[in-house]
Amino acid sequence: MAAQLGAEVTVVDEAGLGGACVLTDCVPSKTLIESSSTMTSLERSASLGLQLEDGKNPRLDVDAPALYARIKALAAAQSNDITERVAAEGIQIIQARGCLTGRHTIEADGVTVTADIILIATGANPRELPDAVPDGKRILTCRQIYDLVELPEELIVVGSGVTGAEFAGAYQALGSQVTLVSSRDRVLPHEDKDAAVVIEDVFRRRGMSVLGRSRAEAVHRKGEGVVVTLADGRALTGSHCLLTVGMVPSTAGIGCEEAGVNLDERGFVEVDRVSRTSAPGVYAAGDCTGVMMLASVAAMQGRIAMWHALGEAVQPIRLSHVAATIFTDPEIASVGASQASVDRGEVAARVVKQPLATNPRAKMGGFRDGFVKIFARPGTGVVLGGVVVAPRASELILPLSIAVEQNLTVDQIAHTFSVYPSLTGSVTEAARTAMEFTADTIV
Ligand SMILES: Cc1cc2nc3c(=O)[nH]c(=O)nc-3n(C[C@H](O)[C@H](O)[C@H](O)COP(=O)(O)OP(=O)(O)OC[C@H]3O[C@@H](n4cnc5c(N)ncnc54)[C@H](O)[C@@H]3O)c2cc1C
Repeated sequence: MAAQLGAEVTVVDEAGLGGACVLTDCVPSKTLIESSSTMTSLERSASLGLQLEDGKNPRLDVDAPALYARIKALAAAQSNDITERVAAEGIQIIQARGCLTGRHTIEADGVTVTADIILIATGANPRELPDAVPDGKRILTCRQIYDLVELPEELIVVGSGVTGAEFAGAYQALGSQVTLVSSRDRVLPHEDKDAAVVIEDVFRRRGMSVLGRSRAEAVHRKGEGVVVTLADGRALTGSHCLLTVGMVPSTAGIGCEEAGVNLDERGFVEVDRVSRTSAPGVYAAGDCTGVMMLASVAAMQGRIAMWHALGEAVQPIRLSHVAATIFTDPEIASVGASQASVDRGEVAARVVKQPLATNPRAKMGGFRDGFVKIFARPGTGVVLGGVVVAPRASELILPLSIAVEQNLTVDQIAHTFSVYPSLTGSVTEAARTAMEFTADTIV
């Protein structure tokens, strides 16, 4: 973006372009999930009238080295693509750890880079627990799992937020016996409650052991396995443990203090809605700001920073319009207002929930878990937000995302053609139902 606007740009990155998003987090995890979803589809095949010739239900075995090699190769290729594109723009790339030495200077690999504007985008790292130190072999962070050469036989996932739920679902589908340890009443405690209930039901039905209200205190190696000790004294044994207990910003020791960049009490860089830090000329974007730990938000913060710094017209970031997906199976996608904000009385909205089970296309595919939910302003019917729980909900959320961004009404969605039969038919049907609510209030 900055180069397109005519700026001379240098990128300092120690791991490789694309960052952790491409190399270790988003891209690898979604690649793993593509494989695990295929496994789930195959599980359904018998119910669709498909059998192997010998009468057995199809059951594939996981070739773990091939699976992990594919994931790493895909991530590396994606990083290379980005590097080539960036280099083609004439951007200088320095592969080294960088450290701010002032508001206009960075030290990287013995070189001092000077700049009018600096953008900090150092990301975040998986949080560790004092009594659960990852060894990269049996006790793992989400970044170490791809170095395994085997599929964990009995995987204990500690933490049931987005990352924990995604990995737990994926490994259960691939054939691991998964135990998901959640310190809260339910999995995905910060997400739409109805959606979390669907996912927890699906997890249990597929044979996962989900332990609610169970805080893990320590994880230790024991022989060829691990022991996870819970706060109530219970001990769980497994072959591997995956820690997914949050992320901490990578802001220690990168010279923020020297440059006058304020950090909050948790170490995140403080930024305003155009990505400015407390130091004039220094901007920050992405996970290091803790704003919303999503690749799309990081990219938007970065673009806004550059537009602002280079004097372009710019709108402050609008986090209320961010669309996000949890890549469980089925996926949970959401945009705009949430059920929690409606329940707390912060947002006045009519809520309509359309179960997927009545959708003809879902029936054909053998899916019954999921729904489309729309939040609409009473009276006007303007769409304030929505949740889709369905296969490929990450794609199906787009009509609702457009509606939120463009202030469309449920009436307008209801009058839009959806294909018959299609899962998006549930979006237009939910909108039609929401119209019934608004009709009596529009005079
Ligand atoms: C398992 C997992 C799955 C995820 N899946 C999704 C998803 O599906 N969709 C989504 O939107 N988001 C997803 N996320 C979140 C997403 O990955 C992050 O929001 C995104 O990576 C943030 O981008 P960033 O540029 O801030 O940081 P990063 O992608 O973390 O990049 C930071 C880069 O800075 C480098 N760096 C750090 N310090 C220095 C230094 N001092 N000098 C030089 N280089 C340095 C690092 O090596 C790294 O390359 C996922 C996260 C995890 C953990």
